[in-house]
Amino acid sequence: MDDQLQKFMFSSAPVRGEIVSLRNTWREVLTRRRYPAPVRDILGEMMAACALLSANVKFDGTLIMQIFGYGPIKMLVVQCNSTLEMRATAKFSNDLDAEAPAAECPGFAELLNASGHGRCVITLDPRERRPGQQAYQGIVPLKGESGPLQSVAEVLEHYMRHSEQLDTRLWLAANTERAVGMLLQKLPGDGGIVPHAGEHDADTWERVCVLGATLTQAELLNEEPQTLFKRLFWQENVQHFTPVVARFECSCSREKVGSMLKMLGRAEVDGVIDEQGQVEIHCEYCNQRYEFDPVDVAQLFAASGVATGVTPAATQRH
Ligand SMILES: [Zn+2]
Repeated sequence: MDDQLQKFMFSSAPVRGEIVSLRNTWREVLTRRRYPAPVRDILGEMMAACALLSANVKFDGTLIMQIFGYGPIKMLVVQCNSTLEMRATAKFSNDLDAEAPAAECPGFAELLNASGHGRCVITLDPRERRPGQQAYQGIVPLKGESGPLQSVAEVLEHYMRHSEQLDTRLWLAANTERAVGMLLQKLPGDGGIVPHAGEHDADTWERVCVLGATLTQAELLNEEPQTLFKRLFWQENVQHFTPVVARFECSCSREKVGSMLKMLGRAEVDGVIDEQGQVEIHCEYCNQRYEFDPVDVAQLFAASGVATGVTPAATQRH
């Protein structure tokens, strides 16, 4: 089924998994902006991964996955909240050929980490912040022990191993139609990520990873999740959980943009009014335009004695 995330658990060992297929959620991102093929595919893989990670953590708030690139791609960002409402956007160099087929384009490391300084940042921003509470943030470079990482899946496996101490495998794929992914994770409690000799579950983890490794990108993109699941794990005893529905949803609003303008300050905003006659803010995620004319701006600052909104986090500009 499309736009659904299915969690499952193997009965024979503390190994859990998730499979997600985004179709409309992903198309909503693509209809709002044109991305060159390699940017699109990486963003789509991040979209699937963000849903998988978001559903994987018990947390009420928004998971923000960012990759800061030093190469033709400058930044990719995907956000997903606890109810799988998602949005995504990317910044990239105009030199990237929008028409070139993906096969002729530079690879992940070249696009994002030409200088070796690229990094991935995962932020957990709680829905209700207690006073003084900071968002949790984990950062990993786009290189591993044996050199530059070559895919979104490799980066996140590296992240999970180093930041969360969880042995995790990810399979991700995206094209113009779908963003698809599968996650397998060995839960702690039986020796963590280092299996002990003779440990009863070591075989299960190894076995399901070997089965997962047989998945091809074409299978991921062309088959329904249930078909894939049956094909891979038909011999395993698996408990399925109720699927969760994902959808595109941008959290921007006129009120949030107004709060952001107030943070900029009257002088700054008046400067823009003097220059351009009005302030026009454009949401990078959903393309919505917000216009504030001189009267709107006067009202905004006249009302500024009254708290009208929550201070947005640096990563959630509006
Ligand atoms: Zn928006």
